[in-house]
Amino acid sequence: MHLPAVHIELPAWVEAHVDWDAAYATDEARVALAIGLARENVRRETGGPFGAAVFEQHSGRLVAVGVNLVVPRSNSVLHAETVALMLAERRLGTHTLAAPGLPAHDLACSCEPCAMCLGAALWAGVRRIVAGAAREDALRVGFEEGPVFPESYDYLAARGVQSVHGILREQGAAVLREYARRGGPLYNG
Ligand SMILES: [Zn+2]
Repeated sequence: MHLPAVHIELPAWVEAHVDWDAAYATDEARVALAIGLARENVRRETGGPFGAAVFEQHSGRLVAVGVNLVVPRSNSVLHAETVALMLAERRLGTHTLAAPGLPAHDLACSCEPCAMCLGAALWAGVRRIVAGAAREDALRVGFEEGPVFPESYDYLAARGVQSVHGILREQGAAVLREYARRGGPLYNG
C-alpha cells in the first residue's frame, strides 16, 4: 500500500489578490485582509468562508495567508488558519514561529478559530490571535466550531498567547451569511 502525498497550495487568485508590501499596522488592517480573503474565497467558489493571515506582530509585515480549502481539497484540516500557519512555517523554515531569533507573530482570522485551529495556533507559536466574526456568527449559519470555551483562551493566555476579539466582526459575519445564502456546503467548521 502506497499512500499518496498531500500537497497544499493556495488557489491561484490569492497571490495577486494580496498586497504583500502593505504595512498592516493595525488589528483592523490585519483582520480586513483575512476577511477579504474569506469573501473572495466564497465568490470564486474555491472553499469555505474563512480567511487568515500571519504577520510579524510589531512591524506588521505579512508573512503568509490562508483560505479555507476543506471541500475542494477533500481535507478536513485545511482551515484558513492551519493553511496560513503551515505556509508561514514553511516560508520561515521553522516548525515554530516562536523560534529563537524570530520576531513575535500574530494570527489574524476572519472568524474566531475552531478548536483545532486554536490548538494549531498554540503549537505554531503565535503570540496573538486577532479575530473578526464571533464563534456565534459561525454557529448561526450552521458551522460547528468544536470545544472552544472561555477557559480555552485563558489557557492560551497563561502560555503567552493573547487574543483580541470582534475586530470588524460585522464584516466577517457578513461573509459567513453570504456563503450560507449561496448554498455553500456546510462541512464542520
Ligand atoms: Zn479551524
